[in-house]
Amino acid sequence: GAATGATAAANADELLGGLLAPGMDRGSCLSRYDSWRYYKHFPYAPSPHLLRRLRDYEARHRRCAPGTPLYAKAVEQLRSGRSADDTVECNYVVWLPFDGLGNRMLSMVSGFLYALLTDRVFLAALPPDSDDLFCEPFPGTTWRLPADDFPVAKLFGVGQHPDRSYSSLLDKKKIAVPEDDPAASNATAPVPPAYVYLSLGWLLTDRIFFCGEHQLAIKKVNWLLQYSDLYFAPSLYAVAEFQDELRRLFPAKESVSHLLTRYLLHPTNSVWGIVTTYYRSNLAPADRRIGVQIRMYGHSSIPADDMYNQILACSRQERILPAETDSGDGNNNGTTTTAILIASLYADYYKRLRSRYAARGAAVGVFQPTHEERQATESLVHNRKALAEIYLLSFSEELLTSGLSTFGYVASSLAGVRPAILLTAFDHKVPATPCRRAVSMEPCNLTPPRDVECRGEAVDKDDLARHVRVCEDWKDGVKFF
Ligand code: GDP
Repeated sequence: GAATGATAAANADELLGGLLAPGMDRGSCLSRYDSWRYYKHFPYAPSPHLLRRLRDYEARHRRCAPGTPLYAKAVEQLRSGRSADDTVECNYVVWLPFDGLGNRMLSMVSGFLYALLTDRVFLAALPPDSDDLFCEPFPGTTWRLPADDFPVAKLFGVGQHPDRSYSSLLDKKKIAVPEDDPAASNATAPVPPAYVYLSLGWLLTDRIFFCGEHQLAIKKVNWLLQYSDLYFAPSLYAVAEFQDELRRLFPAKESVSHLLTRYLLHPTNSVWGIVTTYYRSNLAPADRRIGVQIRMYGHSSIPADDMYNQILACSRQERILPAETDSGDGNNNGTTTTAILIASLYADYYKRLRSRYAARGAAVGVFQPTHEERQATESLVHNRKALAEIYLLSFSEELLTSGLSTFGYVASSLAGVRPAILLTAFDHKVPATPCRRAVSMEPCNLTPPRDVECRGEAVDKDDLARHVRVCEDWKDGVKFF
C-alpha cells in the first residue's frame, strides 16, 4: 500500500473527488453531501477508471431497477425457473442480510464490488431491522428489492446450507461448468437455473465461487442471491478474471473498502441526526479526536482489569492516548485538547478512562454515546445507534479498535485510518503483544477460501502476494494492503 494519512483539504470536496454522483436530492439524504465536513482523512482519490465504471453502473442500475420494464421481464424469467438462453441486459446480485451491522456493511460492499466486476445490478433485501439505516445510493432509482413481490419465498434467515446453493446445484447437475463437458452439445447441457444462492458466510459452503471456471458457470445465471457476512473483496483478487480489472479500478489496493463504503453507504437522516448532534456537542470542540472501539467476545473474554491494561499498553506502544497528567507526552504539548470517543456495548472502559483523565480537566474529554449491553440486531432502534457510532468513530484522527470486529473494520475504512488493532485473547489468555498497527485501512476477510483447487486461468501469484496478506489480528484471514 501507498503512504497515507494526508489530510488533503484539496480532495475534500463534497462529492469526494467525483466518487458521488451529483444531482441527488440533498434533503432526502443529508449525510451524502455533508459527511466530507466531518472526515479527517482523504488519503485516496478515486481513479478515473473507477469513476467511469461507477457512472456506467448507475446508468445500468436505472435501466434495470425495480419498476422498470427490464426488471419486470427479469422477474418473469425468474418465475420460469430457468435463466434466459441469450445474454440479457439485466442480471442481478441480491444481497441478503446475515449477522450484525458491521458484517452486513462489509458484505454489501463486497457484493456491490462483485456486481461492478460482473456487470450485474446490486439490489438489497432489507429486513425491517435495517429498513431505515441507509439512503438510496444510486441517483434516480432504487436499490431496494421489493421482497413482497419477489418469487423466491424465504429471503431472510436463509442459513448457510440452502439446498439451492451453487455447489449443491452443481452436485445435483442442475448447473455445469462449461469446460467440464466440452463434448456435450448445448442440447444436453443443463439449462442454468434462474437463480442460485451464493452461500458465502463464514462456513463458506460455496468456496468454489472463488475459482475462475465456476465464475464462467455462474455468469449464465440471471439472479444470484448472496448470503454472506464477510468482506470477500480480497479473495476476488485471487480470481484471474477479476485481477486486471481490480487493478485498474483501484491502483492502491488499500483504498477498496475506503472508497466503496464512502460511495455506497450513507446513513439516513434519522441516523445522521444522532451523529451530527452528538459530534457537535462533544467531539467538535476538541483539537483532536481518538476513537476507541472495544468489542468483547465470550470466546475470548478476559478479566476487565487485564483488558484495561491491554488497552493502555497498546496505547503506549502505538502512542495513541494522551498522557494521564499534564506533565506532557510526545503527542500532547499541553495546549491541544483531545476528545476520546468510546464505542462499546458496556460502560466499564468508558468509566475507567474518564476517571483516568479526570485530572486533565477540559484538555481531555472522554465520551461514550451509548452502552447497549447486548447486541440486538433485530431492532432498528439499536441498529441506528450502532450505525451512528460507526460514523462517529470514522470522524476520528486516530483509531484503536478490537481484533476480529467487523464493526471496527468498517469504522477504520470509512475514516481512512490504519488503526491500532487490539489482539484477541484466544483461549482467554492475555496476548503478549497488546496490539498491532494495521498495515492498511482495509477490513480482514476472516474466512478466505482454503483447500480449493481451481482449474481456471492462473492468477498472477507474485502480484497477489504484493497486495494481499495475512491479517494482523487473524492468521487465517487475508486483507488488501
Ligand atoms: P462484530 O460482531 O464486532 O464483527 O460487528 P457487527 O456489527 O457485525 O455485530 C456486532 C453488533 O453488536 C453491532 O452491529 C451492534 O448491534 C452491537 N455492537 C457491538 N459493539 C457496539 C458498540 O460499540 N456500540 C453499539 N451501539 N453497538 C455495538
